[in-house]
Formats: sequence, structure tokens, C-alpha cells
Amino acid sequence: MIACDAQEAWTQFLEFVKTKCSATAFSNWLAPIRVLESNSDEVTLEVPNIFVQEYLLSNYKQELRSFLPVDVVGDPAIRFIIAPSRKMAFHPTGPSVHVEEPKLASSNHPEVKLNNAYRFETFIEGTTNQFVKSAAMGVALKPGQSFNPLFIHGGVGLGKTHLLHSIGHYIQENHKKLRIQCITTEAFINDLVDNLRNKSVDRMKRFYRSEVDVLLVDDIQFLQNRLNFEEELAHTFEALKNKGAQIVITSDKPPSLLKLSERTIGKMEGGLVAHMGIPELETRVAIILYKAAQKGLNISQKVAFFIAEHIYHNVRQLEGAINRLSAHCRLMNLNITEDLVTRTLREMLHHAPSEKISVEQILKSVASVFQVRVVDLKGNTRTKEIALPRQVAMYLAKEMVNESLNMLGFAFGKTHSTILHACKNIEKKVETDEQLRQQIGLIRRNIES
Ligand code: ADP
Ligand code: MG
Repeated sequence: MIACDAQEAWTQFLEFVKTKCSATAFSNWLAPIRVLESNSDEVTLEVPNIFVQEYLLSNYKQELRSFLPVDVVGDPAIRFIIAPSRKMAFHPTGPSVHVEEPKLASSNHPEVKLNNAYRFETFIEGTTNQFVKSAAMGVALKPGQSFNPLFIHGGVGLGKTHLLHSIGHYIQENHKKLRIQCITTEAFINDLVDNLRNKSVDRMKRFYRSEVDVLLVDDIQFLQNRLNFEEELAHTFEALKNKGAQIVITSDKPPSLLKLSERTIGKMEGGLVAHMGIPELETRVAIILYKAAQKGLNISQKVAFFIAEHIYHNVRQLEGAINRLSAHCRLMNLNITEDLVTRTLREMLHHAPSEKISVEQILKSVASVFQVRVVDLKGNTRTKEIALPRQVAMYLAKEMVNESLNMLGFAFGKTHSTILHACKNIEKKVETDEQLRQQIGLIRRNIES
């Protein structure tokens, strides 16, 4: 039971600091904190991640001392608990949103082009992207001091660029002195080519090495097979890292699968490698409701579920679906029903590559990567060598095959709860097991190609 006065004290603390920080900082860092319990000498706060804790202590210690109990040395007496991974909460009426069309905003630095819509507070969090979002927030909070480089990898349209720009915005607003350069790998290469042509490479080098404190590089996979450019970028990374500048890199695959030199790969692995997973159903529903609300489109949870169940690879595709629906409804002045969704999105749903993927295909691919036999995967052997790949197959089937859990259970000769259990288990494992993550990535690519 929370003592009322602790809750009250915390509320007063929030009221007080609200006047001292930006609304964005408040909603990112302070609003998610909860009072769990308290007694006269200690308050227990639940924070979404360690960075929020650090943020609170490094920015508001003085204020905390005034509002909350203090310990013998006069520090705020707070016990922190990191919130367990949480499922997305649904917002039946859509979360509160500020409607903002994506547009490119240039900042104090002429080169920095950050998409205005790509911010931490517009990034919907779920179990598969929670870790990477926390890491990005950690870097934004303390550039150059937490993970360097931060390497974000994951499939197309899952929000890598969104997080990269979120870091840029946050740093721009909160570390005003730091000079940010946000660039796609392609643009970097083009720049280098131009500078080579104009014999001004030295100037470019000087710019990167002395005038950049935060380098955000998008889509590093475009550096593959570009040996000379790789060398130049690797030197730039080295020089920046040596002077304590923060580097964040995004990629469609993990460093180890990039066709780059061992040295460059080693450098990229030297900080933190964070994976951006495909959002699970609940998160996709939340994203749909959020994006629809942004467009002023009113859709029911049932319809949101329907879309989320049919489009699951790619958040950009989800957005595309919402855009189509929105256009359709505006033109025809129709209400959004499941039937309308089916008709409007038929083409899209039809083209979702996953529609064609079968459990058999998944079993074959899993069997070949794990070096086991398909019959064993379908059987009942419980040895670890078989049980793990079997669960991987179930997990991938749920992600990639457009069938109900009951049907999937049937395909595996198991119940739907066995499938669910397998999915949960694998989702948990991939969070810490890089090898497993790579194996699953490989299987996924084999199936999709
Ligand atoms: P990537 O760089 O991984 O290909 P993007 O960052 O361009 O993907 O994301 C594609 C679109 O999906 C963007 O409009 C982005 O805002 C949106 N998006 C992706 N993930 C999320 C999320 N978790 N919450 C809200 N929007 C998202
Ligand atoms: Mg991108």
C-alpha cells in the first residue's frame, strides 16, 4: 500500500519539475516513473529502465532531496526497481497525439536533417523494441559516455531511422552545444565522391574529425563492397571515438553479417549492438491506433486487430495501410468496417509476402540451419537439440504464417497453448542469446528469399 503522503510528495515533485523542463523531457523521462511503496525513510520508485533512473538522479537530486525522504548522508532515499517488460497498453480511443505531418526540419547545423515526426515520444514501445529504445535513450542522455558506438540493426521499416532521428532531436534539445551530423551512408559516399572530385577531401575530413560531436549514420549496409569508402568511414569513426564523440549506426543486419573488413566489424561490435525486432501483435495494434489517431481516423480495436493480424512484417506497411484507409474514407465518406478494410487493403494483404509462407517451408529451413530432421521437429522428442529448433519453428510459424494459433497447433500436432508457450520462450531467449538471434535471422531470410 502506498502511503498517501509519498504519492502526494511525488506528485508535488512532478508539479515542481514540470515547470523546469520541457514537455518532451517530462513525458519521456519523468511521467513514466511510478511510486511503488514507501515508508518514512525510503521511497520505492519503478522506472522503465536504468537510464530514467540516471536521468532523475543526475538532473534532479536537489529537488528530490526537498520533496522526498533523505538518507544519513543527505541523499534522496530512493530504491529503484526496473519495471518488468510490459505489454503494450491499449488505448481504445487512441493515445493523446499531436498531429504532425512528417517534414524535414533543419536545425542550427545546416547538414542536420532530422524528420520532425521521428521522436522518442512518437515511438511506440513493445517487448521487441524496448531494449533498443532504452539503449537509444541512454545514448541520447549521455552522448559519448554510455555505449559507443551504438549499433542498431533490424529488418526494413521497423523504426531504425525513427530511433536514430529521435536521438538527434533529443541531443539537439538537451545538449545544445553538441554538434550533430546525421547522414545516410549513401549521402556520406556521395559527399566523399564530390569532395574527391573537387579536391576538397581534406576539408571534409577536417569537418568530420573536428566539428562533429555526434555522428548518426543510417543504413551502413550500403558501405558493403565499397572498399575505399569503407576505409574513409572507418578512419572517421576511429577519430571521432578517440575524441569521445558519440557514434550511432543503423543497419539491416548485425555487424557480423556485413560484408566489411574484420576490423570495421570489430569496431562496430565494440560498443553495444541492439536488435530491433518485429513488433508483436499487441504493439502493432497500438501502432495502428496511434497512427490512425494522428490522421484523425477513428478505427475500432477490432479493425485494428484485423489489420495487425494481416500485416506483420513492417511498420511502414502498417502506416501505408492506414494512409490508404484514410484516403478511402475521406473520398467516399465511409465508416471503417472490417469489410471495408478487406476491400481497401486486399491488394496490400495479398502482396504481404507472408501469405505464401507455409509451415512446411519453415520446418525445412529450421531443420537445415539447426542440422536436424524435419520428422524430428514434428515429433515428440524432448531432447534439447530438437526441442529448441522445434520451438523456433513454432515461433517463426506464428510470426510468418498467416494462420490462427489453432491451425498452427494442428500443423505441429500440438495445442495452441504449446505454440504460445514456445513463442514466449523464444522471444525471451533471443533477448540475450545473440547466436540464436542470428540463426533465426538467417532462417527468416532463407524463407523470405
Ligand atoms: P527503418 O529505418 O527501420 O526501415 P523507419 O524508421 O523508416 O524504419 O520506420 C518506418 C515507419 O514506421 C516510420 O514512419 C516510423 O515512424 C514508423 N515506425 C516504425 N516503428 C515504429 C514504432 N515502434 N512506433 C511508431 N512508429 C514506428
Ligand atoms: Mg531507415
